[in-house]
Amino acid sequence: MESTAKRDAESTCVLCCQDIDLFAVGKCDHPVCYRCSTKMRLLCEQKYCAVCREQLDKVVFIKKLEPFAALNIRQYQYEKKFDTYFADGKIYAQFRKILLHECPQCPEPKVFSKFEELEQHMRKQHELFCCKLCAKHLKIFSYERKWYSRKDLARHRTQGDPDDTSHRGHPLCKFCDDRYLDNDELLKHLRRDHYFCHFCDADGAQEYYSDYQYLSEHFRESHYLCQEGRCSTEQFTHAFRTEIDYKAHKAAAHSKNRAEARQNRQIDIQFNYALRQQRRNGGKAEFSNPSLAGQDFPVLGAAAPPAPIQRYCMFVLFLVKWVSFMYFFPM
Ligand SMILES: [Zn+2]
Ligand SMILES: [Zn+2]
Ligand SMILES: [Zn+2]
Ligand SMILES: [Zn+2]
Ligand SMILES: [Zn+2]
Ligand SMILES: [Zn+2]
Ligand SMILES: [Zn+2]
Repeated sequence: MESTAKRDAESTCVLCCQDIDLFAVGKCDHPVCYRCSTKMRLLCEQKYCAVCREQLDKVVFIKKLEPFAALNIRQYQYEKKFDTYFADGKIYAQFRKILLHECPQCPEPKVFSKFEELEQHMRKQHELFCCKLCAKHLKIFSYERKWYSRKDLARHRTQGDPDDTSHRGHPLCKFCDDRYLDNDELLKHLRRDHYFCHFCDADGAQEYYSDYQYLSEHFRESHYLCQEGRCSTEQFTHAFRTEIDYKAHKAAAHSKNRAEARQNRQIDIQFNYALRQQRRNGGKAEFSNPSLAGQDFPVLGAAAPPAPIQRYCMFVLFLVKWVSFMYFFPM
């Protein structure tokens, strides 16, 4: 009974959960199917075992499962590029077949040397298209690729496929009108190619601005923005989270004489603290770009409301800053 269960477990691939028709084993003796092994080693360029993560410098494709050490692999056919051995010519042919770029539509077998050539053939001969984003990011074989009519491709990009509930379309960057593979890729793009407020970001907000002009408007409305002298042409470094930081900067960078410096560093603590509270609770979480207001950007995480303890910490932090400020700029 136990051995039957073990045999069943061994004949099912742990990666794709399908019956194994050809086993792929390395020195750690954890078998997977030859398709998953090929996908790992060839498409993903990873040579470790998916079960125990041991690096497998050699892998053997065999029909009947045997311990790796018992196999006489020196006699086997060998594909040097992927360090893979094949027990016989039939197994090797089966391996080569899953790598083919073959037209799934033509009645006569039509094979291309590259995926790009198959793509061109599909477009010209059958008016079928593959999704460029999926083609670029998904490491799958050509025979597994999906082909769409123009209309179905548009639906795939915006909403996903009716037969695949795990994919709900590729999210759109409304600034560039470009789609990205998933929310992670869109987020990478937003952080790399657009702007966000580093103060609000640290508080957990997820707001982006198409260009620096909109971000500086946000700095002016929600934080403190210095636009004096050379600060008018700066980016990021002329924005301040608190009034005390802002005044310290003004005193250090822009005061012409001692009297002005003294005036610049005078702060009403109570007023400043109350103002911060008001600002935090008031106008927040909107796109500065008017054309984007109210549009449905994907929600990539919610901002946590400030808890009383956080307010208390902010106040303590504020006091510490005030004391150090007085230390460096005594009245
Ligand atoms: Zn598999
Ligand atoms: Zn292993
Ligand atoms: Zn064809
Ligand atoms: Zn796609
Ligand atoms: Zn964009
Ligand atoms: Zn902000
Ligand atoms: Zn300044």
